[in-house]
Amino acid sequence: MEADKVKEACAVVAMRCKQDVAQYIYYALRALQHRGQEASGIAVYSGGLKVKKGVGLVSDVMGPEDMDKLSGKVGIGHNYYSIKVSRPENIQPQSLKTGIGDIAIAHNGIIVNSQLIIAQLKKEGKLFLLESEEEAFIMRLTDTIRATDDIAKSIKTVCKELIGSYAFALLVNDRVFAIRDPYGIRPLCLGKLPDGKGFIAASESVALDVLGAEFIRDVMPGEAVEITEDGFKSINIGASINRAHCFFEWVYFARADSVIDGMSVYEARKRIGWRLAKEAPAIADVVMPIPDSGRAHAYGYALGSGIKMNEGLMKNRYIHRTFIMPTQDAREISVREKMNPVRAVVEGKRVVIVDDSIVRGTTMKKIVKMLRDAGATEVHVRIGSPPLISPCYLGIDMTNRDQFIADHRSIDDIRKEIGSDSLAYITIEGLVEALNFEKENLCLGCVTGEYPVNIPGERRRFQQTLEGFT
Ligand code: AMP
Repeated sequence: MEADKVKEACAVVAMRCKQDVAQYIYYALRALQHRGQEASGIAVYSGGLKVKKGVGLVSDVMGPEDMDKLSGKVGIGHNYYSIKVSRPENIQPQSLKTGIGDIAIAHNGIIVNSQLIIAQLKKEGKLFLLESEEEAFIMRLTDTIRATDDIAKSIKTVCKELIGSYAFALLVNDRVFAIRDPYGIRPLCLGKLPDGKGFIAASESVALDVLGAEFIRDVMPGEAVEITEDGFKSINIGASINRAHCFFEWVYFARADSVIDGMSVYEARKRIGWRLAKEAPAIADVVMPIPDSGRAHAYGYALGSGIKMNEGLMKNRYIHRTFIMPTQDAREISVREKMNPVRAVVEGKRVVIVDDSIVRGTTMKKIVKMLRDAGATEVHVRIGSPPLISPCYLGIDMTNRDQFIADHRSIDDIRKEIGSDSLAYITIEGLVEALNFEKENLCLGCVTGEYPVNIPGERRRFQQTLEGFT
């Protein structure tokens, strides 16, 4: 994949309501802000498409005055993560006026074969504005709907051509759909608003919670769901024999209060921490989380080790995730800006710090030093994911092998580099057991280098025959 390819680990929302949807989508997107902070947008349909999108947090991009302009009972929304917003049109939802009407799409994931599809469409004479995978999807869908006059069948046909990860929210005029790839790589769930007000599909269950909506179920891998006035109409687009849920959703990406594919993110993290304590005990006085995503892991570690947990690092809650900063310099400053040790907790103590992951090592190096400066006598580091060694091609912003501190390095070399007294990562087996899924049903590409779909130049996790697709 090209190094500068737009990366998409984002949030999507699709809704149909008895009243205007924009406000609901707005709150759902805010609940999903952790999935993307670079750009945001809403598209609604009411006789025509109305779109509001821009760079920044949901609340920077739109306010109450926009809600009035976005009147309409069906709509979709999107939060963008780690986009290179060189062209604001890239911000989603993306939309086109087509021969069959207005189509808008919001996408979480990456279509690995998008360049081939785009090349084919160009050969057929199609003109692209953005050359994005979303634009290509809309064009293919339009052609297929024209030929068949059947939206559901066309969605199935076009999805069969896609290789990669996708959770789509899709508007075809006044019809709204939520679609999940055959492996269920990225999350997507369905809910029902109180008092029969309407129905929602969203990346994570926290979006339902904030609206007081009842969780109905996850969208199945290989399922498209039309959100109708009465609920949900399922369209089978063809599941794979095995799933490939991204383990990193539970380890880091999702909010701890979400439930994904039947597994509470909080409980999963706690179990990972517990398992880590058994696999890699430490002799220490205190267990400390790296807030926020390391919190449940640390709690689990404390339970598993019997060492008490204390909050020894305080986070400036007004600073957003540092990883997303575009340059290494900016990332380093923002770690210091974001986190500060509590001397009273740390001084004179042997501490175990627990985080979800180490990518480049920038965060951990700074934190170990901060803790030593604050008087820690020993610093032991425990990590809730196995070493990240391979790029993610399916939606998490880790596309470059060289960026990983664990690339071709021993654990002891990494320990020296981050400056800790000891370092341990959870094992792959431990992680899989803690998540309580079969290994065959998880995507572990970034820790094994084996992927659930064909990625040019990379190993496939296990061969699947075409008969695998129903
Ligand atoms: P680093 O400083 O590069 O080692 O990044 C590790 C920190 O970033 C950890 O504290 C994680 O919580 C967080 N993190 C890990 N993966 C990602 C990601 N793909 N996007 C944003 N943040 C991440």
